[in-house]
Amino acid sequence: MSETDKHHIENDPQFKGLNVNSGVEQPETVNNDSVKRFLQKKRKLLPVEEYVNGILKGDITLLSKAVTLVESSKAEHQQLAQQIIKACLPHSGNSVRVGITGVPGVGKSTFIEALGKLLTSRGEKLAVLAIDPSSERTKGSILGDKTRMEELASDKLAYIRPSPSAGSLGGVARKTRETIILCEAAGYTNIFIETVGVGQSETAVHSMTDFFLLLMLAGAGDELQGIKRGIMEMADLIAINKADGNNVEKAEMAKVQYKNAIHLFPKKDSDWEPNVLSCSAYNKVGIEDIWGQIENYKKLTKGNDYFVRKRNEQATYWMHETIQEQLKRNFYDHPEIKAQLQVLENYVLADKMSSFVAAGELLDRYSKLK
Ligand code: GDP
Repeated sequence: MSETDKHHIENDPQFKGLNVNSGVEQPETVNNDSVKRFLQKKRKLLPVEEYVNGILKGDITLLSKAVTLVESSKAEHQQLAQQIIKACLPHSGNSVRVGITGVPGVGKSTFIEALGKLLTSRGEKLAVLAIDPSSERTKGSILGDKTRMEELASDKLAYIRPSPSAGSLGGVARKTRETIILCEAAGYTNIFIETVGVGQSETAVHSMTDFFLLLMLAGAGDELQGIKRGIMEMADLIAINKADGNNVEKAEMAKVQYKNAIHLFPKKDSDWEPNVLSCSAYNKVGIEDIWGQIENYKKLTKGNDYFVRKRNEQATYWMHETIQEQLKRNFYDHPEIKAQLQVLENYVLADKMSSFVAAGELLDRYSKLK
């Protein structure tokens, strides 16, 4: 077996593309209470301008501190984070935001490392963020694993931030969207948002990126890869990864199949015609062509104004999403609603009240609470 063939886990009959590895529980880095208190004291908050000036100068430490505030659920942190975001907003937007998805094992981190190194070798700055739906459950998440993207992690032009771990997908996605703003203000002109292509997270990623790249494997059928038609339809480019060793021929065949498949999808509003390419992230082959596609997309959509239109649509989408999320939380967190919810739920279960009447009653009660 050649060196690269060892990496073709998809050829193993046991391979199930849908496996999401559970993360490793991380031990506490500090287990001494007095040291913990000392560290907490040290982590005192700075004035808004200090974060903002640091970010605008491209200071990674201050950027990271600000992102930590964005991710925090403490009211005090959130307030400060919102002020920082507001100040950074006029300096944001100058980037291309690329969503990268694919099942675990497809080679996302290897690919991001290869493409990322290509960009940094050209002197371009790159931020890699992640939306990982599993991180809430497992704490230490697959996308947060520090051993991934080792080369890129030590590259001064790259900033890698694992997925925020707490909260609903909507909450995690919102935090990532706000982090994009901070990264752009810090001069990162390329933003990659990585997600595992098994759930709803790619819809969230799609709603905050300009270009959507789907990584796939040859040989493993769509079903096995858990890739839904809807996700393929969202893709601006499909890249068949691991086109190396004894997989080259299969990758070429898959390319033709997927090309035929995406041909049948409705035309995109962007006027962009999605393409299918093959690559080997491991051998760094075909990576430049993929970036070339993204550059062509940028040229086309900036020319026909779709680029700006889509970003505007995304901005209003997130405004409404945030309102909905907040309203929902306010409603369900209200002590009186909490108490009544159980009672009415029991009525509904006992056929004493219809679901709609019960919902109406609770909403009515809530509107009078204010
Ligand atoms: P992720 O879970 O999608 O991030 O996938 P990884 O990047 O961790 O890759 C999973 C496995 O596939 C690793 O063993 C990689 O070395 C291997 N791999 C990634 N890209 C390629 C490739 O282009 N060719 C081959 N042969 N193996 C690859």
